[in-house]
Amino acid sequence: MQPFADAATQTCPYCGEEVEVDVDSLGASAEAYVEDCPVCCRPWEVKVTRDEDGPSVTLGRDDD
Ligand SMILES: [Zn+2]
Repeated sequence: MQPFADAATQTCPYCGEEVEVDVDSLGASAEAYVEDCPVCCRPWEVKVTRDEDGPSVTLGRDDD
């Protein structure tokens, strides 16, 4: 069984490192929050959208 969390591999928009972002499989159809990169500690804007295929994640910079 899948746990109720998914990990999406993303590229940090600041340092370019590949990072895993833990995402809850269940939740709002769209949400955004700020999380710090574990590599460079700069704040991502994490945008999550969910549909029948599961969550998808995009990382943006929080300083736009
Ligand atoms: Zn980073």
